[in-house]
Amino acid sequence: MSKSLLSLMALFLPLLTSAQMAPCGTQEGRVKWLQDYQENPGAYPKSNATIYVPMKIHIVGNDEGAGHTSLNRTLNAFCQLNEHFKDADIQFFISGEINYINNTLYYAHNYNNGYAMMEEHNVNNVFNCYIVSDPAGNCGYSVYGLGVALSRSCINTGSSTWAHEAGHYLSLPHTFSGWEGYDDFDYTQAAPNFIGNRMVERADSSNCENAGDRFCDTPADYLNYRWNCNSAGFSTITETDPNGIQFHSDGSLIMSYSTDNCTEMRFSEEQIDAMQANLMFDRPYLISSAQPMDAIPEDAMIEYVYPQDGQVLTDTISSITLEWAPIPNAQYYIVNMNPFPFFSFTIYDAIVATNSVTFHGLEANQDYYWQIRPYSSYSTCMRFSQKGTFTTGETITATEELSTLENLNIYPNPVKGNHSVTVVFSAKQREHLQVRILSMTGQQLQSISYEANQGDNNLQLSLNTISSGLYMVELIGVNDRIVRKLMVK
Ligand SMILES: [Zn+2]
Repeated sequence: MSKSLLSLMALFLPLLTSAQMAPCGTQEGRVKWLQDYQENPGAYPKSNATIYVPMKIHIVGNDEGAGHTSLNRTLNAFCQLNEHFKDADIQFFISGEINYINNTLYYAHNYNNGYAMMEEHNVNNVFNCYIVSDPAGNCGYSVYGLGVALSRSCINTGSSTWAHEAGHYLSLPHTFSGWEGYDDFDYTQAAPNFIGNRMVERADSSNCENAGDRFCDTPADYLNYRWNCNSAGFSTITETDPNGIQFHSDGSLIMSYSTDNCTEMRFSEEQIDAMQANLMFDRPYLISSAQPMDAIPEDAMIEYVYPQDGQVLTDTISSITLEWAPIPNAQYYIVNMNPFPFFSFTIYDAIVATNSVTFHGLEANQDYYWQIRPYSSYSTCMRFSQKGTFTTGETITATEELSTLENLNIYPNPVKGNHSVTVVFSAKQREHLQVRILSMTGQQLQSISYEANQGDNNLQLSLNTISSGLYMVELIGVNDRIVRKLMVK
């Protein structure tokens, strides 16, 4: 591997690790809505269907446009967030496009700049989440009614930070509520009856309605720092309640500070009821009324159309249009291509809404590897496909020296709807083309592959699904792209 490649890799090492950060910076205490709710939870009807919540994801980098967490990592984390909320019958979906922000003051921020970031970029009527480098020294924090900020180093596989902060956003306090900030408490001693002005929860839960987080199915927990657990999922440290009863904290609860790899993480039933009620009664505008999109089938497999896996290309090639069979219900594809067989960082990378993409500047006699990850705003759990590989040929000609497609004409033009048009053009060589019909705003309406012959070509394009209006017909070749307008009457 070349030296420049190694120094490139060094740039991708994270600057901060989660171990250096506080677990959570959410303000302690119960929000007013939860205080009212917990007076009489039975008065709130429960949801009888899955609640879908639109989430706007903002990925923040520095002023130079660097440091954004990758989309791939974000999708993994979003998938995990929904796993954590599955039993709660609450599911999030990605609202609109991901919002990329370049601002050093927001990238590593103090609370004031974090609030300013949310005030500036929040989208109304959705749950706003910001992924930054350093959210005020924490793995994350939530500001009720405003949004959630997360550190990119705390959304790894296996982390429940996002679910923890989303729990706060939906009104949940910590399981050790009241103990926040008591840094030097000696846990070998029995706990006092009150910590601050909050009643301490007994190990037998006898005062659970008035103590701690006031949920009776989250047992006593006094541990206000990141703690490890034993194989049964309970704290290794022994706590003692005000009556002298010893107990261990439950590490499975997402709203505790147990380490993520303790055990299967969960919300309790009462916590789930509170989050659902919070959405239905305090913030119904966060509940989507739209029909959720069908999921991408879990067993969907990417099928490489061009090049075929293992294909050796003999044509002149410095650019290539990769093509694969569309995956049902996929809205987007992340495409990675590298001249080496691993993807810990990526040389060619694209996100496309179509089942093909063109990359330029390929080298001669080189093996290339590519992989594809389909996703939609509702389906983010598909992983990258098996790698495909191909080998480029002998001759490489610089892109700018070569224009292989010429004399594009379309007739009839204008054309009547439901008819077909003839597309004529000449090509200097045999080559693989993509022929697309685009709206004037660039939305792809139709796309086909076409093997052009050297010399004159003519191709019939059916317009069955195209309504009247002005369109662009686009030919994408190995080295160039040409476009003509087409009027459909
Ligand atoms: Zn927290």
